[in-house]
Amino acid sequence: MKKQFAVIGLGRFGGSICQSLSEQGMEVLAIDLNEDKVNEFANIATHAVVADTTEENTLKSLGIRNFDHVIVAIGDNIQSSILTTLMLVEAGVKHITVKAQNDYHEKVLNKIGAHKVVHPERDMGIRIAHNIVSKNVLDYLELSDEYSIVELMAGQSVHGKSLIDLNIRAKYGCNIMAIKRDEEINVSPDATQDLRKGDIIIVIGADEDINRMEEDLF
Ligand code: ADP
Repeated sequence: MKKQFAVIGLGRFGGSICQSLSEQGMEVLAIDLNEDKVNEFANIATHAVVADTTEENTLKSLGIRNFDHVIVAIGDNIQSSILTTLMLVEAGVKHITVKAQNDYHEKVLNKIGAHKVVHPERDMGIRIAHNIVSKNVLDYLELSDEYSIVELMAGQSVHGKSLIDLNIRAKYGCNIMAIKRDEEINVSPDATQDLRKGDIIIVIGADEDINRMEEDLF
């Protein structure tokens, strides 16, 4: 059976989640207070309804507890976001993902039992900043305060050298997870594999180790 999703709040964030889930063939219920927003998604989502999700009876009548995953993408109205999340938790929804506006909001959402809290503006800001500071950093995913996954572009300095030649694991303590070349992706590459200029290297490791490696080799 197809997974059933509900997206509450159809702003830029919720709207793009709704659209992408629908494009992936999922069943999506799109919910917003604003009728214009709901009309916009009427042909995109499986169902689209006007509703205020801070009203417990409204959530009940939508059968919200039967959905596999509910995404709360209410933007500026932090109070509504918290209240909606609380009622979803109380209704026993299995997966609740909520967009946080700031760190305090995030703290409260975690306390009341949201399963996943996302902070898209902050996370995208961090990723873009890394990309601006180093032109070799194409993408950046923070795993924790200390560890990250980074996509680096191989330049002339590593062209024709193998992972053994560069001695990356022993010297820097980082692991190359994959190498992308054109459309091909080589997952867990062999240490004898040569790098080429233009390859995209996906590295996992401690931030300071990755930085050292990047400064030396890229
Ligand atoms: P973004 O920053 O992602 O663009 P917005 O703040 O523009 O987010 O959008 C949030 C959406 O959430 C708006 O369309 C708003 O109508 C909707 N919304 C706000 N409160 C509620 C609520 N209580 N119930 C349902 N939808 C709501």
